[in-house]
Amino acid sequence: MDFALTQEEKELAERAREFTREYITPRAHELERRNEFPMEVVQKAYEVGLMNLHIPEEAGGPGMSLLAETLVSEATGYGCAGIATSIMCNNLAFAPLVIAATIDQLKEYVQPLITGKKVQFGAFCLTERKAGSDVASVATTAVRDGDEYIMNGVKCFITNAPQASLFTVFASTQPELRHKGLSVFMVPKTKGVKIGHVENKMGQLNSVQSEVVFKDVRVPAECLVGKEGEGFKIAMMTLDKTRAGIAAIATGVAQRALDEAARFANIRHQFGRPIGKFQGIGFMLAAMGARASAARLLTRYAAWLADHNMPVSKHSAFAKFFASDAAMQNAIDAVQIMGGYGYLTEYPVEKLVRDAKLLQIYEGTNQIQRLVAGNAILKESVDLDTGFHVEYPGRDAPLF
Ligand SMILES: Cc1cc2nc3c(=O)[nH]c(=O)nc-3n(C[C@H](O)[C@H](O)[C@H](O)COP(=O)(O)OP(=O)(O)OC[C@H]3O[C@@H](n4cnc5c(N)ncnc54)[C@H](O)[C@@H]3O)c2cc1C
Repeated sequence: MDFALTQEEKELAERAREFTREYITPRAHELERRNEFPMEVVQKAYEVGLMNLHIPEEAGGPGMSLLAETLVSEATGYGCAGIATSIMCNNLAFAPLVIAATIDQLKEYVQPLITGKKVQFGAFCLTERKAGSDVASVATTAVRDGDEYIMNGVKCFITNAPQASLFTVFASTQPELRHKGLSVFMVPKTKGVKIGHVENKMGQLNSVQSEVVFKDVRVPAECLVGKEGEGFKIAMMTLDKTRAGIAAIATGVAQRALDEAARFANIRHQFGRPIGKFQGIGFMLAAMGARASAARLLTRYAAWLADHNMPVSKHSAFAKFFASDAAMQNAIDAVQIMGGYGYLTEYPVEKLVRDAKLLQIYEGTNQIQRLVAGNAILKESVDLDTGFHVEYPGRDAPLF
Protein backbone atom coordinates (compact mmCIF):
# COMPACT_ATOMS: atom_id res chain seq x y z
CA MET A 1 0.00 0.00 0.00
CA ASP A 2 1.39 3.38 -1.00
CA PHE A 3 -0.08 6.51 0.59
CA ALA A 4 2.52 8.80 -1.01
CA LEU A 5 1.48 11.53 -3.42
CA THR A 6 3.31 11.91 -6.74
CA GLN A 7 5.71 14.84 -7.17
CA GLU A 8 3.08 16.64 -9.31
CA GLU A 9 0.40 16.11 -6.65
CA LYS A 10 2.72 17.31 -3.86
CA GLU A 11 3.52 20.48 -5.81
CA LEU A 12 -0.15 21.13 -6.55
CA ALA A 13 -1.12 20.64 -2.88
CA GLU A 14 1.68 22.99 -1.77
CA ARG A 15 0.62 25.61 -4.33
CA ALA A 16 -2.97 25.38 -3.07
CA ARG A 17 -1.86 25.69 0.58
CA GLU A 18 0.32 28.71 -0.20
CA PHE A 19 -2.53 30.32 -2.13
CA THR A 20 -4.85 29.70 0.83
CA ARG A 21 -2.39 31.20 3.33
CA GLU A 22 -1.87 34.28 1.18
CA TYR A 23 -5.27 34.99 -0.40
CA ILE A 24 -8.00 33.13 1.50
CA THR A 25 -7.40 32.72 5.24
CA PRO A 26 -6.43 36.33 6.06
CA ARG A 27 -9.37 37.78 4.06
CA ALA A 28 -12.21 35.26 4.46
CA HIS A 29 -13.85 37.05 7.40
CA GLU A 30 -13.71 40.49 5.84
CA LEU A 31 -15.01 39.17 2.50
CA GLU A 32 -17.81 37.36 4.32
CA ARG A 33 -19.08 40.64 5.73
CA ARG A 34 -19.51 41.90 2.16
CA ASN A 35 -21.77 38.88 1.47
CA GLU A 36 -20.95 38.84 -2.23
CA PHE A 37 -19.09 36.68 -4.70
CA PRO A 38 -15.31 36.79 -3.95
CA MET A 39 -14.34 37.47 -7.56
CA GLU A 40 -10.76 38.72 -6.95
CA VAL A 41 -9.81 35.59 -5.00
CA VAL A 42 -11.40 33.22 -7.51
CA GLN A 43 -9.74 35.04 -10.42
CA LYS A 44 -6.39 34.58 -8.67
CA ALA A 45 -7.11 30.86 -8.07
CA TYR A 46 -7.79 30.54 -11.80
CA GLU A 47 -4.53 32.34 -12.66
CA VAL A 48 -2.40 30.08 -10.44
CA GLY A 49 -3.96 26.96 -11.98
CA LEU A 50 -6.25 25.69 -9.23
CA MET A 51 -9.44 25.43 -11.34
CA ASN A 52 -10.88 23.20 -14.07
CA LEU A 53 -8.31 20.50 -13.34
CA HIS A 54 -10.41 17.60 -14.66
CA ILE A 55 -11.03 18.97 -18.15
CA PRO A 56 -9.25 16.61 -20.58
CA GLU A 57 -6.18 17.82 -22.45
CA GLU A 58 -7.96 17.37 -25.84
CA ALA A 59 -10.39 20.09 -24.69
CA GLY A 60 -7.71 22.49 -23.44
CA GLY A 61 -7.63 21.39 -19.77
CA PRO A 62 -4.83 19.87 -17.70
CA GLY A 63 -6.56 16.43 -17.60
CA MET A 64 -5.71 15.88 -13.94
CA SER A 65 -7.14 13.30 -11.55
CA LEU A 66 -10.00 13.56 -9.05
CA LEU A 67 -7.37 13.02 -6.34
CA ALA A 68 -5.64 16.21 -7.53
CA GLU A 69 -8.94 18.10 -7.25
CA THR A 70 -9.44 16.88 -3.69
CA LEU A 71 -5.98 18.16 -2.71
CA VAL A 72 -6.95 21.65 -3.89
CA SER A 73 -10.39 21.50 -2.24
CA GLU A 74 -8.96 20.39 1.11
CA ALA A 75 -6.38 23.19 1.06
CA THR A 76 -8.86 25.92 0.06
CA GLY A 77 -11.56 24.51 2.38
CA TYR A 78 -9.08 24.93 5.25
CA GLY A 79 -9.10 28.68 4.58
CA CYS A 80 -12.82 29.15 3.82
CA ALA A 81 -15.43 26.58 2.78
CA GLY A 82 -17.43 29.27 0.97
CA ILE A 83 -14.51 30.38 -1.20
CA ALA A 84 -13.57 26.72 -1.78
CA THR A 85 -17.14 26.11 -3.00
CA SER A 86 -16.93 29.09 -5.36
CA ILE A 87 -13.62 27.79 -6.74
CA MET A 88 -14.73 24.16 -6.94
CA CYS A 89 -18.14 24.71 -8.50
CA ASN A 90 -16.85 24.47 -12.09
CA ASN A 91 -15.83 20.87 -11.29
CA LEU A 92 -19.47 20.08 -10.53
CA ALA A 93 -20.87 22.05 -13.47
CA PHE A 94 -18.52 20.52 -16.04
CA ALA A 95 -18.37 16.96 -14.62
CA PRO A 96 -21.53 15.75 -16.46
CA LEU A 97 -20.00 17.11 -19.68
CA VAL A 98 -16.63 15.42 -19.07
CA ILE A 99 -18.53 12.19 -18.38
CA ALA A 100 -20.97 12.23 -21.30
CA ALA A 101 -20.26 15.00 -23.85
CA THR A 102 -18.22 14.40 -27.00
CA ILE A 103 -14.78 15.97 -27.35
CA ASP A 104 -16.24 18.24 -30.07
CA GLN A 105 -18.93 19.47 -27.64
CA LEU A 106 -16.29 20.09 -24.95
CA LYS A 107 -14.10 21.96 -27.42
CA GLU A 108 -16.92 24.20 -28.55
CA TYR A 109 -18.68 24.92 -25.24
CA VAL A 110 -16.16 24.35 -22.42
CA GLN A 111 -12.73 25.08 -23.89
CA PRO A 112 -13.44 28.82 -24.46
CA LEU A 113 -14.45 29.11 -20.79
CA ILE A 114 -11.26 27.63 -19.37
CA THR A 115 -8.56 29.07 -21.62
CA GLY A 116 -9.11 32.85 -21.56
CA LYS A 117 -7.51 35.44 -19.26
CA LYS A 118 -10.67 36.00 -17.21
CA VAL A 119 -12.13 33.26 -15.07
CA GLN A 120 -15.49 32.01 -16.36
CA PHE A 121 -18.11 29.90 -14.71
CA GLY A 122 -20.45 27.01 -15.25
CA ALA A 123 -23.41 26.17 -13.02
CA PHE A 124 -24.91 22.75 -12.24
CA CYS A 125 -28.71 23.05 -12.45
CA LEU A 126 -30.50 20.06 -10.98
CA THR A 127 -32.45 21.17 -7.88
CA GLU A 128 -35.93 22.72 -8.04
CA ARG A 129 -38.28 23.89 -5.29
CA LYS A 130 -40.20 20.59 -5.43
CA ALA A 131 -37.31 18.37 -6.53
CA GLY A 132 -34.47 18.18 -4.00
CA SER A 133 -33.41 14.70 -2.88
CA ASP A 134 -36.09 13.27 -5.18
CA VAL A 135 -34.38 14.11 -8.45
CA ALA A 136 -37.02 12.26 -10.50
CA SER A 137 -39.52 15.03 -9.63
CA VAL A 138 -37.71 17.58 -11.85
CA ALA A 139 -40.41 19.63 -13.59
CA THR A 140 -38.24 21.61 -16.03
CA THR A 141 -39.06 20.41 -19.53
CA ALA A 142 -37.24 20.39 -22.85
CA VAL A 143 -39.53 19.79 -25.81
CA ARG A 144 -38.02 19.00 -29.21
CA ASP A 145 -38.91 21.46 -31.97
CA GLY A 146 -36.99 20.77 -35.20
CA ASP A 147 -33.26 21.35 -34.59
CA GLU A 148 -33.93 22.83 -31.15
CA TYR A 149 -35.43 22.07 -27.78
CA ILE A 150 -37.68 24.59 -26.04
CA MET A 151 -36.83 24.70 -22.33
CA ASN A 152 -39.10 25.91 -19.52
CA GLY A 153 -38.65 25.68 -15.76
CA VAL A 154 -37.10 27.18 -12.62
CA LYS A 155 -34.03 25.82 -10.82
CA CYS A 156 -33.09 26.95 -7.32
CA PHE A 157 -30.06 26.94 -4.95
CA ILE A 158 -27.77 27.05 -8.00
CA THR A 159 -24.17 27.83 -6.95
CA ASN A 160 -22.33 30.44 -9.04
CA ALA A 161 -25.44 30.95 -11.21
CA PRO A 162 -25.26 34.78 -11.26
CA GLN A 163 -21.66 34.55 -12.54
CA ALA A 164 -22.19 31.64 -14.95
CA SER A 165 -22.06 31.73 -18.72
CA LEU A 166 -22.82 28.02 -19.23
CA PHE A 167 -25.57 26.10 -17.42
CA THR A 168 -25.60 22.31 -17.21
CA VAL A 169 -29.33 21.70 -17.01
CA PHE A 170 -31.26 18.56 -16.11
CA ALA A 171 -34.66 18.71 -17.83
CA SER A 172 -37.33 16.23 -18.65
CA THR A 173 -37.72 15.26 -22.31
CA GLN A 174 -40.40 12.67 -21.38
CA PRO A 175 -42.01 13.66 -18.07
CA GLU A 176 -44.26 10.57 -17.92
CA LEU A 177 -41.13 8.38 -17.62
CA ARG A 178 -40.00 10.24 -14.42
CA HIS A 179 -36.25 9.65 -13.89
CA LYS A 180 -35.97 7.68 -17.15
CA GLY A 181 -37.23 10.76 -19.02
CA LEU A 182 -34.50 13.12 -17.70
CA SER A 183 -31.89 14.51 -20.11
CA VAL A 184 -28.87 16.84 -19.75
CA PHE A 185 -28.22 19.97 -21.77
CA MET A 186 -25.45 22.57 -21.99
CA VAL A 187 -27.24 25.89 -22.07
CA PRO A 188 -25.25 29.06 -22.79
CA LYS A 189 -26.55 32.23 -21.18
CA THR A 190 -28.93 33.32 -23.93
CA LYS A 191 -32.28 35.03 -24.29
CA GLY A 192 -34.79 33.55 -21.90
CA VAL A 193 -32.22 32.50 -19.25
CA LYS A 194 -32.71 34.79 -16.23
CA ILE A 195 -31.29 34.89 -12.73
CA GLY A 196 -34.11 34.82 -10.19
CA HIS A 197 -34.15 35.16 -6.40
CA VAL A 198 -30.68 35.17 -4.79
CA GLU A 199 -30.70 32.86 -1.74
CA ASN A 200 -29.82 34.25 1.74
CA LYS A 201 -27.84 31.81 3.85
CA MET A 202 -26.55 31.23 7.39
CA GLY A 203 -23.02 30.24 6.30
CA GLN A 204 -20.67 29.88 3.35
CA LEU A 205 -21.39 33.54 2.70
CA ASN A 206 -18.41 33.65 0.32
CA SER A 207 -20.41 31.62 -2.20
CA VAL A 208 -23.52 32.71 -4.06
CA GLN A 209 -26.63 30.73 -4.99
CA SER A 210 -29.72 31.76 -6.94
CA GLU A 211 -32.69 30.62 -8.92
CA VAL A 212 -32.26 30.24 -12.68
CA VAL A 213 -35.38 30.79 -14.74
CA PHE A 214 -35.68 29.21 -18.20
CA LYS A 215 -38.54 30.78 -20.16
CA ASP A 216 -39.07 29.43 -23.69
CA VAL A 217 -35.31 29.09 -24.10
CA ARG A 218 -34.36 27.74 -27.53
CA VAL A 219 -31.54 25.25 -26.97
CA PRO A 220 -29.83 23.88 -30.10
CA ALA A 221 -30.26 20.08 -30.35
CA GLU A 222 -26.44 19.78 -30.48
CA CYS A 223 -26.43 20.90 -26.82
CA LEU A 224 -28.03 17.64 -25.68
CA VAL A 225 -25.36 15.73 -23.72
CA GLY A 226 -25.43 11.96 -24.24
CA LYS A 227 -28.80 10.63 -25.35
CA GLU A 228 -32.32 11.61 -24.35
CA GLY A 229 -33.27 9.78 -21.14
CA GLU A 230 -29.67 9.43 -19.86
CA GLY A 231 -29.89 12.43 -17.52
CA PHE A 232 -30.54 10.54 -14.29
CA LYS A 233 -27.69 8.11 -14.93
CA ILE A 234 -25.31 10.99 -15.78
CA ALA A 235 -26.40 12.90 -12.65
CA MET A 236 -25.66 9.89 -10.43
CA MET A 237 -22.29 9.25 -12.13
CA THR A 238 -21.45 12.93 -11.64
CA LEU A 239 -22.34 13.01 -7.94
CA ASP A 240 -20.48 9.74 -7.31
CA LYS A 241 -17.33 11.62 -8.33
CA THR A 242 -17.94 15.14 -7.11
CA ARG A 243 -18.93 14.11 -3.57
CA ALA A 244 -15.24 13.45 -2.94
CA GLY A 245 -14.77 17.19 -3.56
CA ILE A 246 -17.25 18.09 -0.82
CA ALA A 247 -15.60 15.54 1.47
CA ALA A 248 -12.27 17.24 0.75
CA ILE A 249 -13.58 20.70 1.68
CA ALA A 250 -15.02 19.10 4.83
CA THR A 251 -11.64 17.57 5.66
CA GLY A 252 -10.11 21.04 5.36
CA VAL A 253 -12.72 22.44 7.78
CA ALA A 254 -12.23 19.54 10.24
CA GLN A 255 -8.45 20.11 10.21
CA ARG A 256 -8.79 23.89 10.59
CA ALA A 257 -11.10 23.45 13.61
CA LEU A 258 -8.54 21.13 15.19
CA ASP A 259 -5.60 23.46 14.48
CA GLU A 260 -7.35 26.56 15.85
CA ALA A 261 -8.52 24.68 18.96
CA ALA A 262 -5.08 23.15 19.63
CA ARG A 263 -3.35 26.52 19.22
CA PHE A 264 -5.77 28.08 21.71
CA ALA A 265 -5.47 25.15 24.15
CA ASN A 266 -1.69 25.62 24.25
CA ILE A 267 -1.89 29.34 24.94
CA ARG A 268 -4.97 29.79 27.14
CA HIS A 269 -4.19 29.30 30.84
CA GLN A 270 -6.77 28.55 33.57
CA PHE A 271 -6.08 27.16 37.05
CA GLY A 272 -2.36 27.89 36.45
CA ARG A 273 -1.80 25.71 33.39
CA PRO A 274 -2.62 25.58 29.66
CA ILE A 275 -6.15 24.23 29.25
CA GLY A 276 -4.76 21.59 26.83
CA LYS A 277 -3.19 19.92 29.86
CA PHE A 278 -6.64 19.08 31.24
CA GLN A 279 -7.57 15.57 30.17
CA GLY A 280 -11.10 16.72 29.25
CA ILE A 281 -9.62 19.00 26.56
CA GLY A 282 -6.82 16.65 25.47
CA PHE A 283 -9.28 13.83 24.82
CA MET A 284 -11.42 16.16 22.69
CA LEU A 285 -8.35 17.17 20.63
CA ALA A 286 -7.43 13.51 20.13
CA ALA A 287 -10.91 12.65 18.84
CA MET A 288 -10.88 15.71 16.55
CA GLY A 289 -7.50 14.68 15.11
CA ALA A 290 -8.70 11.12 14.47
CA ARG A 291 -11.84 12.42 12.71
CA ALA A 292 -9.85 14.74 10.44
CA SER A 293 -7.38 11.98 9.51
CA ALA A 294 -10.11 9.40 8.88
CA ALA A 295 -12.02 11.94 6.74
CA ARG A 296 -8.87 12.55 4.67
CA LEU A 297 -8.24 8.84 4.12
CA LEU A 298 -11.85 8.10 3.09
CA THR A 299 -11.82 11.10 0.74
CA ARG A 300 -8.58 10.18 -0.97
CA TYR A 301 -9.61 6.52 -1.22
CA ALA A 302 -12.89 7.46 -2.93
CA ALA A 303 -11.01 9.72 -5.36
CA TRP A 304 -8.44 6.98 -6.02
CA LEU A 305 -11.22 4.45 -6.77
CA ALA A 306 -12.85 6.87 -9.23
CA ASP A 307 -9.49 7.63 -10.87
CA HIS A 308 -8.96 3.88 -11.38
CA ASN A 309 -12.47 3.40 -12.83
CA MET A 310 -13.51 1.19 -9.93
CA PRO A 311 -17.00 1.23 -8.36
CA VAL A 312 -17.08 4.32 -6.14
CA SER A 313 -20.72 5.00 -5.10
CA LYS A 314 -20.44 3.45 -1.65
CA HIS A 315 -17.08 4.99 -0.80
CA SER A 316 -17.93 8.45 -2.13
CA ALA A 317 -21.08 8.32 0.05
CA PHE A 318 -18.97 7.16 3.05
CA ALA A 319 -16.48 9.97 2.42
CA LYS A 320 -19.17 12.66 2.01
CA PHE A 321 -21.18 11.89 5.13
CA PHE A 322 -18.24 10.97 7.35
CA ALA A 323 -16.10 13.98 6.42
CA SER A 324 -18.95 16.50 6.65
CA ASP A 325 -20.09 15.06 10.00
CA ALA A 326 -16.45 15.26 11.14
CA ALA A 327 -16.27 18.91 10.03
CA MET A 328 -19.48 19.74 11.92
CA GLN A 329 -18.41 17.94 15.10
CA ASN A 330 -14.89 19.37 15.05
CA ALA A 331 -16.24 22.89 14.49
CA ILE A 332 -18.62 22.59 17.46
CA ASP A 333 -15.84 21.11 19.61
CA ALA A 334 -13.50 23.94 18.64
CA VAL A 335 -16.09 26.49 19.84
CA GLN A 336 -16.38 24.55 23.14
CA ILE A 337 -12.61 24.40 23.63
CA MET A 338 -12.30 28.14 22.99
CA GLY A 339 -15.10 28.89 25.45
CA GLY A 340 -16.58 32.39 25.14
CA TYR A 341 -13.93 33.34 22.56
CA GLY A 342 -15.13 30.51 20.33
CA TYR A 343 -18.52 32.19 20.15
CA LEU A 344 -17.25 35.61 19.10
CA THR A 345 -17.18 36.60 15.45
CA GLU A 346 -13.68 38.12 15.56
CA TYR A 347 -12.27 34.65 16.29
CA PRO A 348 -12.15 32.01 13.56
CA VAL A 349 -14.28 29.09 14.74
CA GLU A 350 -17.93 30.27 14.86
CA LYS A 351 -17.67 30.67 11.07
CA LEU A 352 -16.58 27.04 10.82
CA VAL A 353 -19.83 25.92 12.48
CA ARG A 354 -21.96 27.96 10.06
CA ASP A 355 -19.93 26.80 7.04
CA ALA A 356 -19.74 23.13 8.05
CA LYS A 357 -23.53 22.76 8.34
CA LEU A 358 -23.98 23.16 4.59
CA LEU A 359 -21.51 20.36 3.90
CA GLN A 360 -24.02 17.94 5.43
CA ILE A 361 -26.76 19.18 3.07
CA TYR A 362 -25.63 20.05 -0.46
CA GLU A 363 -24.69 17.56 -3.20
CA GLY A 364 -27.06 15.07 -1.55
CA THR A 365 -27.92 15.29 2.14
CA ASN A 366 -26.16 12.98 4.56
CA GLN A 367 -29.37 10.95 4.93
CA ILE A 368 -29.29 10.33 1.18
CA GLN A 369 -25.60 9.35 1.42
CA ARG A 370 -26.50 6.83 4.12
CA LEU A 371 -29.28 5.48 1.87
CA VAL A 372 -26.82 5.04 -1.01
CA ALA A 373 -24.23 3.36 1.23
CA GLY A 374 -26.80 1.22 3.07
CA ASN A 375 -28.29 -0.04 -0.19
CA ALA A 376 -24.83 -0.85 -1.56
CA ILE A 377 -24.00 -2.82 1.62
CA LEU A 378 -27.28 -4.79 1.44
CA LYS A 379 -26.64 -5.59 -2.22
CA GLU A 380 -23.11 -6.84 -1.49
CA SER A 381 -24.37 -8.95 1.42
CA VAL A 382 -26.57 -11.14 -0.83
CA ASP A 383 -23.62 -13.31 -1.91
CA LEU A 384 -21.57 -12.84 1.23
CA ASP A 385 -20.11 -15.91 2.92
CA THR A 386 -19.02 -15.04 6.45
CA GLY A 387 -17.89 -18.61 7.08
CA PHE A 388 -20.55 -19.16 9.76
CA HIS A 389 -23.26 -21.24 8.15
CA VAL A 390 -26.66 -20.98 9.74
CA GLU A 391 -30.16 -20.53 8.37
CA TYR A 392 -31.77 -17.27 9.47
CA PRO A 393 -35.55 -17.22 9.66
CA GLY A 394 -37.01 -14.89 7.01
CA ARG A 395 -38.51 -14.62 3.59
CA ASP A 396 -37.04 -16.64 0.72
CA ALA A 397 -36.37 -13.65 -1.53
CA PRO A 398 -33.68 -11.20 -0.40
CA LEU A 399 -34.08 -7.45 -0.94
CA PHE A 400 -31.69 -7.52 -3.94
C1 LIG B 1 -26.01 26.60 -0.42
C2 LIG B 1 -26.53 25.54 -1.30
C3 LIG B 1 -25.91 25.31 -2.54
C4 LIG B 1 -26.45 24.38 -3.43
N1 LIG B 1 -25.91 24.26 -4.70
C5 LIG B 1 -26.58 23.53 -5.63
C6 LIG B 1 -26.17 23.55 -7.02
O1 LIG B 1 -25.18 24.20 -7.40
N2 LIG B 1 -26.91 22.85 -7.91
C7 LIG B 1 -28.01 22.13 -7.56
O2 LIG B 1 -28.63 21.52 -8.42
N3 LIG B 1 -28.41 22.07 -6.24
C8 LIG B 1 -27.73 22.76 -5.29
N4 LIG B 1 -28.15 22.75 -3.98
C9 LIG B 1 -29.31 21.95 -3.59
C10 LIG B 1 -28.98 20.79 -2.66
O3 LIG B 1 -28.28 19.78 -3.33
C11 LIG B 1 -30.30 20.34 -2.02
O4 LIG B 1 -30.66 21.34 -1.08
C12 LIG B 1 -30.19 18.99 -1.35
O5 LIG B 1 -29.98 17.97 -2.30
C13 LIG B 1 -31.44 18.65 -0.53
O6 LIG B 1 -32.62 18.93 -1.20
P1 LIG B 1 -33.74 19.81 -0.46
O7 LIG B 1 -33.09 21.00 0.10
O8 LIG B 1 -34.86 20.02 -1.42
O9 LIG B 1 -34.23 18.92 0.75
P2 LIG B 1 -35.30 17.70 0.73
O10 LIG B 1 -34.94 16.74 -0.34
O11 LIG B 1 -36.66 18.27 0.73
O12 LIG B 1 -34.98 17.05 2.14
C14 LIG B 1 -35.45 17.59 3.37
C15 LIG B 1 -35.01 16.63 4.48
O13 LIG B 1 -35.58 15.32 4.26
C16 LIG B 1 -34.55 14.34 4.21
N5 LIG B 1 -34.91 13.30 3.25
C17 LIG B 1 -35.37 13.44 1.98
N6 LIG B 1 -35.57 12.26 1.41
C18 LIG B 1 -35.19 11.32 2.33
C19 LIG B 1 -35.14 9.90 2.33
N7 LIG B 1 -35.50 9.19 1.26
N8 LIG B 1 -34.71 9.29 3.46
C20 LIG B 1 -34.33 9.98 4.55
N9 LIG B 1 -34.35 11.34 4.61
C21 LIG B 1 -34.77 11.99 3.50
C22 LIG B 1 -33.31 15.11 3.75
O14 LIG B 1 -32.13 14.41 4.11
C23 LIG B 1 -33.48 16.42 4.50
O15 LIG B 1 -33.05 16.26 5.81
C24 LIG B 1 -27.59 23.63 -3.05
C25 LIG B 1 -28.17 23.82 -1.80
C26 LIG B 1 -27.68 24.76 -0.93
C27 LIG B 1 -28.37 24.98 0.38
